[in-house]
Amino acid sequence: MLRVNEIFYSIQGESTRAGLPCVFIRLTGCNLRCAWCDTRYAYEKGEDLSIRQILEKVAVYPCRLVEITGGEPLLQEKTPELAGALTEAGYTVLVETNGSLPVAVLPEAAVRIMDIKCPSSGESEQLLMENLEALRPDDEIKCVIADRMDYEWAAALIRENRLEGRCRILFSPVESRLMLSDLASWILEDGIHVRLQPQLHKTIWPGEERGR
Ligand code: SF4
Repeated sequence: MLRVNEIFYSIQGESTRAGLPCVFIRLTGCNLRCAWCDTRYAYEKGEDLSIRQILEKVAVYPCRLVEITGGEPLLQEKTPELAGALTEAGYTVLVETNGSLPVAVLPEAAVRIMDIKCPSSGESEQLLMENLEALRPDDEIKCVIADRMDYEWAAALIRENRLEGRCRILFSPVESRLMLSDLASWILEDGIHVRLQPQLHKTIWPGEERGR
């Protein structure tokens, strides 16, 4: 069984699949407490569902793209099995993780999206550095940036670990903390090869906290 906070169908707001319809499976529980977390409602509440029940709920929607998210999905022992069952059923599976737990447990076919926590989150020390070695060309790193210090930290992480060209890298501003134009200027001034990305779902549905 897995503890599931919500399953919903929406537009993917982040990642290189932004804009595509996607089914989200949000698992309950997180091992971090980021300062600007927007999914606190997923820390505890949820219902226990079997993998079969989850697949049945996902199959209701006219969509072959699925994201397993949280909370922190890798906290649950059955998450790799769920990702494997979804890929075997023909879905493209994205797993969004905070990078603090080993991603190598996931099946090869699942795309790993590592939401790396910058210093303003208060959780940047939790990054498991060995996870950076496990990234493949179709995997993604997402850095959500609140200020110049976050930007410099993220840029240094990418350079020092030679991540450019090894996986897809996206920089997004924390909503209401950093102007998209400022982040764009910093990226261009530095010549860093990352993708600038607004959080699309927050533009489509401003102020809405959950489940769409
Ligand atoms: S890792 Fe994600 S869900 Fe967990 S506290 Fe941070 S932002 Fe919230």
